[in-house]
Amino acid sequence: MTQMNYTGKSRVAIIANGKYQSKRIASKIFSALKHDPNFYLSKDNPDIVISIGGDGMLLSVFHMYEKALDKVRFVGIHTGHLGFYTDYRDFEVDEFLKNLRLDRGEKISYPLLRVTVTTADGRIVTARALNEASLRRIEKTMVADVAINGTQLERFRGDGITVSTPTGSTAYNKSIGGAVLHPTVEAFQMTEIASLNNRVYRTLGSSIIIPKGETVTIEPKRVGSYTVSIDNKSFSYRNVAKMEFFLDDKKISFLSTPSHIGFWERVKDAFIGEVDE
Ligand code: NAP
Ligand code: MN
Repeated sequence: MTQMNYTGKSRVAIIANGKYQSKRIASKIFSALKHDPNFYLSKDNPDIVISIGGDGMLLSVFHMYEKALDKVRFVGIHTGHLGFYTDYRDFEVDEFLKNLRLDRGEKISYPLLRVTVTTADGRIVTARALNEASLRRIEKTMVADVAINGTQLERFRGDGITVSTPTGSTAYNKSIGGAVLHPTVEAFQMTEIASLNNRVYRTLGSSIIIPKGETVTIEPKRVGSYTVSIDNKSFSYRNVAKMEFFLDDKKISFLSTPSHIGFWERVKDAFIGEVDE
C-alpha cells in the first residue's frame, strides 16, 4: 500500500527549479492532484517528493529531505533530456499522473555514501552524498595517505580524490575516468584526480570498487586549505586530519513505476545516442 499517514492520504511535495517549463509542469501536477482525495499536497513531511528539473535538481531536493529517507520516495521529472535520477520527461506528465494514482508503495532503492571529515583540531563533520564526495587541494599538490579497510594502500600525490556512489558514477566520476557502475551493485568507487605518477611517486592509477562494509580513509599529509565537495556543494577546511568514506546504512528510494527506465538505456541515451552505421 501507499504509505499513508493519519489523514489517510499520501502527502506529496512538488519541487521545481526556476525554469519556466519546470514551473509549468509543477502547476499542471498541482492542479491535477489538488482535488484528488487520495493526495495531500504539502512540502512538510511528505511521503512522495516530485522533483522537476534535471539530475542537479534532484540532488538539491535529495538534500532537502535527506533526514526523512526512511519514509520518502522520490520521483524525477526532467524538463529536457532523460537524465539518471529522472523517470519521466516533461511530455510524459499524463502518464506520470496515471502511474501515481495506481501507486501501491512500490519502490526501488539505491546506495548512498556516508562521509566523515575530521579536522586537525578534532572537529568531526558528517555528511551523506547521492552522487559523490571529494577531497581536493587547490593551492598545492595534495599529498595524502590512502587506506582501504585499514590497509595502507598508497601515498597519493595529485589534485585530489573522488569517491562516488553507483548512481553518481556517471557524473563527475565518469569525467575523471572512473567506471560506470550499475546502481544495484552495493559498492562505491574511489577515483583519482590527476595523480602524479613517475619513478618517485606511485599510486594504483585505476579506480577502485569497494564493497559495502569497507571504509576508505584519506589522510592529508600537509598543512593547508582543503576543499571538501558533497554533491553540488563545496566547503573549505583549514586543516583536514582525515576523511572517511563508506556506504550508508540508508538508501535513497524512488517511486517504482511500470515505465521505470533501465540504467543501460539511460547510459546509452546520455552518452552514446543514435550513431549512424
Ligand atoms: P551542474 O554543474 O549544473 O551539472 C553538472 C552536470 O552533471 C549536469 O549536466 C547534470 O545533469 C549532470 N549530472 C548530475 N548528476 C548526474 C548523474 N548522477 N549522472 C550523470 N550526470 C549527472 O551541477 P549540478 O546540476 O548541481 O550537479 C552537481 C553534480 O555535477 C556533482 O555531483 C558532480 O557529479 C557533477 N559535476 C561534474 C563535473 C565534471 O564532470 N567535470 C564538474 C562538476 C560537477 P542535469 O543537467 O540533468 O542537471
Ligand atoms: Mn544541473
